[in-house]
Amino acid sequence: MVAALGCRGTATNLDVDVPVADRGAAVVDSGTTDASTPRDASDLDVATVDAPPPSDLGPGLDAPVDAPVIPVDAPALDRPPVDAPALDRPLVDAPIAMDVRSDLGFPVDVGAVDAPRNDVGPLTAGIGEGLSPDARPELRVSCGVTPPTPRVTAGAADRFVLRGRVVTPTGVLSPGEVFITGGTLTCVAASCSSRAGYAGATIIETGGIIAPGMIDTHNHPQYDFLPPWTPPRRFTRSDQWQGVPEYRAFTEVLRNNENLNNNTCAMVKWGELRALIAGTTTIQGGPNLNCVTRTLARNIESGNDFEGVDHHRPNTLGIATVSSSDAMGLRADMDSGQLSAYLLHLSEGIDEPARREFDLMVSRNLLTPAMVIIHGTALGAPEFAQVGAARAKLVWSPRSNIILYGRTTNVGLALDRGITVALAPDWTPSGGPNLLSELRYGRYVSQAAMGGRLSSRDLVEMVTSRAATAVDRPQVGSLVEGRYADVMVIPDRGCDAYDSLVDAPTADVRLVVLGGRPVYGEAAMMGALPGEARARCEPVTVCGQPKTICVALASTANSLNQSLADIEAQLRVFTTPYPLAPLCP
Ligand SMILES: [Zn+2]
Repeated sequence: MVAALGCRGTATNLDVDVPVADRGAAVVDSGTTDASTPRDASDLDVATVDAPPPSDLGPGLDAPVDAPVIPVDAPALDRPPVDAPALDRPLVDAPIAMDVRSDLGFPVDVGAVDAPRNDVGPLTAGIGEGLSPDARPELRVSCGVTPPTPRVTAGAADRFVLRGRVVTPTGVLSPGEVFITGGTLTCVAASCSSRAGYAGATIIETGGIIAPGMIDTHNHPQYDFLPPWTPPRRFTRSDQWQGVPEYRAFTEVLRNNENLNNNTCAMVKWGELRALIAGTTTIQGGPNLNCVTRTLARNIESGNDFEGVDHHRPNTLGIATVSSSDAMGLRADMDSGQLSAYLLHLSEGIDEPARREFDLMVSRNLLTPAMVIIHGTALGAPEFAQVGAARAKLVWSPRSNIILYGRTTNVGLALDRGITVALAPDWTPSGGPNLLSELRYGRYVSQAAMGGRLSSRDLVEMVTSRAATAVDRPQVGSLVEGRYADVMVIPDRGCDAYDSLVDAPTADVRLVVLGGRPVYGEAAMMGALPGEARARCEPVTVCGQPKTICVALASTANSLNQSLADIEAQLRVFTTPYPLAPLCP
C-alpha cells in the first residue's frame, strides 16, 4: 500500500544518491553580457557537441558505448529522488529491477548505461531534428510604448491593489485591477472599487502586464546551481547519459558537498530563488527537507504550501522502480483520490526501450487521470491516443530534449488527443535557466517544427492555467477571485499581453507577489510598499537593473534568517554558482 505523502520536513534520510544543488548569489548581474551573446560559454558549447546529426543516429546502433554498465540494483541516477523517503515510491532494488527487465521484454536495459545496441528499435519518435538547443529568437519586447514608471500610493499594509493590464482565464482586462487581501485574490475586475476594504488599500500603478505567477511543472531545483552541461554526444534515452563519466564528473561537486553543512538547503533555496526572480511562484521537484519548509516558491508536492492538500507524488527514477505491488498501491490511491498527480519521468528518449517504458506503465495499470507524464519524448500516435483516452497529462521540456536527444516530444500529437500539456525547463544542466527562457524555446520549436501551431496564449497557459490543471493545483495559475495571490508583473510596452510574456527577459520582471507578499521587484517600487520588514529585504542587481528581493525571515529556525547573500556565500565555499540571471536580456 502506498504510504501517505509526507509534508516537507518529514524525511531526509535518502538512501539513494541524492544530489542537491542550489545556486545562490546575491550578485546576479550579468549586465555586461550583450544581447547577442548566447547564454554563456559552457552553454554555447552545447551547440558544438560533436554528435552525429540525428539522421545519422538513425538506428543509433553504432553510437559509442563508452560507459560502464551500472548494476541494476545501483541507482546510478544523480537526479534527486525528491520524494524518496517516507513516500511510497519504491526505491530501486534488485528484485524490482529484475521484474522490470522481464516485463520490458529485453535482456539488459534498466539501469544500464547503454543498452545493447541491437535492442534499440527504429528511432521514429519525436520532432525537431536539426533544431539548435541554443536558439535565442529575437525578443519582441517593444511595440512603441514606453512603459509607465510604477507609482505607489501607500495605504494599509495588509491589502493592496495592482493596476495594469490583467491576464485572466477569459481574456485580458485592459485596464484592470487585482485586489489582494492577505494571501488571496479578493477581486479581479476592471474595477474593484466597490469591494470592502478597497478604500485605504495601498495602490500600485504597475504600468505593466499583470499575470499569474508561473508554474514550473518539471524541475530539479537542487541542481540549479550547476551551469549548463555539455554532453559528450547525443543519446537515445535517459539512462545512457546519467552514467557516462562526463556527467559523473560534472555532478561531482554536488555529490561531494550535498548533505554537508546544510548545503543541500542552500542549493534548493538557490533553485527556488532562480525561479522566483523569473516570475515562477510554484515549482516541482523540490526535496523533502526541514530546511525548506519556508516557501521561497511553492512546491507542487508539498502540502505545506497548499494548505495541507497533499495528493501529489513525484517519481524521478522512472517506472522501472515501481514493482507490481507498489503499482497496486498507487492505483488504489489514484482511485480513492489520495493520489491526484503522480509526476513520473517516463519515456525520456527516442528509442524503442524508452517507448516500452510506456507499455510497462500501462501494464502496471497506472494510466489514469492522475498520471502526469514528464517528457514522453518516445511516444507516438498510438501512445498519445491512450493517454488522451485516459485523461492523463503531459509535461514538455523541449530544450532539454533537444540537447540530450536531438528531438523533442511530439506535442502536436498530444494536443490532437485533447491532452493537457504543460511546459517546463527540467533543470539548468540541460534546460533553460528559467521558465521565461523555456517559453521562448517552446515558441521556437513551435515555429520551426510545428508550423507555428502554438500561439503565445497557448504557451502562456502551458505555464499557468494548463500547468495547474496538469498537476492538480487549481489554487494557482489563474487570476481568479479566491485563488492564491501569486502574481507576476512585467512592463507594458504596448504589445499583445501574451506575446509580451513569452518575450519577457528575466530582467524585465517588475514585481513578484507570492501568497500576497511582494517578494521581488523593482527597487523603487518595493521600497515604497508598506508592511513587510523592509530591513530584511535586500538589494540585488539583475542584468544591470536594481531590484529588491525578500528572502530572510526573523526566525533562526531551520536557517529561515538566511539572506540571499548568505545563501550565495554558503555555496561559494565549494563552487561558483551559475548566476541567477545568466542571460541578459
Ligand atoms: Zn527531469
